[in-house]
Amino acid sequence: MSTVLSINALAKSYGPVKALKGVSFDVPTGSVFGILGPNGSGKTTLLGIIMDVLRANSGNYLWFGQPGSAEQRKKIGTLLETPNFYSYLSGTDNLKITQAISGRGTKSDIETVLKKVNLYDRRWSAFKSFSLGMKQRLAIGAALLGDPQVLVLDEPTNGLDPVGIAEIRQLITELKDKGHTIIMASHLLDEVEKVCTHAAILKLGELITTGLVEEILMDEDIVELSAADMQALITILKNMGKEIKFDEKTGTVQVIFPKGTAQMDELNRYCFNHGVALSQLVLRKKRLEARFFELTNN
Ligand code: ATP
Repeated sequence: MSTVLSINALAKSYGPVKALKGVSFDVPTGSVFGILGPNGSGKTTLLGIIMDVLRANSGNYLWFGQPGSAEQRKKIGTLLETPNFYSYLSGTDNLKITQAISGRGTKSDIETVLKKVNLYDRRWSAFKSFSLGMKQRLAIGAALLGDPQVLVLDEPTNGLDPVGIAEIRQLITELKDKGHTIIMASHLLDEVEKVCTHAAILKLGELITTGLVEEILMDEDIVELSAADMQALITILKNMGKEIKFDEKTGTVQVIFPKGTAQMDELNRYCFNHGVALSQLVLRKKRLEARFFELTNN
């Protein structure tokens, strides 16, 4: 798979604050790539650097295999600075103004863009009559002028109502299907899980992990067990060669299995056959939120 963006050991400090501490990852062509992290983890700083708005202290990045140039910039649309739309003007007229000011694309692109962001039917309605989701879709439309291969979005659903959030997530998926690569920052695990194919997780300026969403955010089966003789239970479970944890709060032993592979009856039989009668045997699906919490709070 080819790479649209390659980030190599990027570091950035604001005085004593180390916002990025040497972050490296690649964004594959055609992906929806989520930069996931809690507030203050360095997402906006990273996007600012790759869009040439901020300068890194060290490290570098390559767009399409080359250092940034004006020619390559044209292949990248961004929503980092939200355009100022005029409330009394229509979607079409607002895009005409954005196009004229930015010089991206031509007037004839405007119809195509309005269709892409599903606003064509409302193209003559005043901006002020738009829902929050429609306003954000028009902003994404402005970023799509000139038909950039890549779109860079910072928290694209921030401040939207649930309907607007659903519209934008749907739109991002449609844009991916139309061949765009999308790089988006988000602090919402659920959003990245629903929308993104790949992700990089940041915590306090460091890369925690990167890769396919289904691999890095994989769910697990956790089985909680207890018995009158906990020591004997722990010993026989260890002998099974499984990863186990003792949870002091619940007084249970947890055995971790890959998603969908925990066989409760087998586990019960195994313990019984090894002389331990279980007083508790419960399957708990590990929620992705818990995994995210672990990844970012350790
Ligand atoms: P958020 O979602 O809150 O914007 P973020 O993950 O995008 O968070 P950044 O905005 O990149 O993170 O901030 C990373 C760190 O750098 C934070 O500690 C932040 O306070 C600090 N920081 C960001 N911009 C500046 C600045 N202009 N001056 C000083 N410190 C800054």
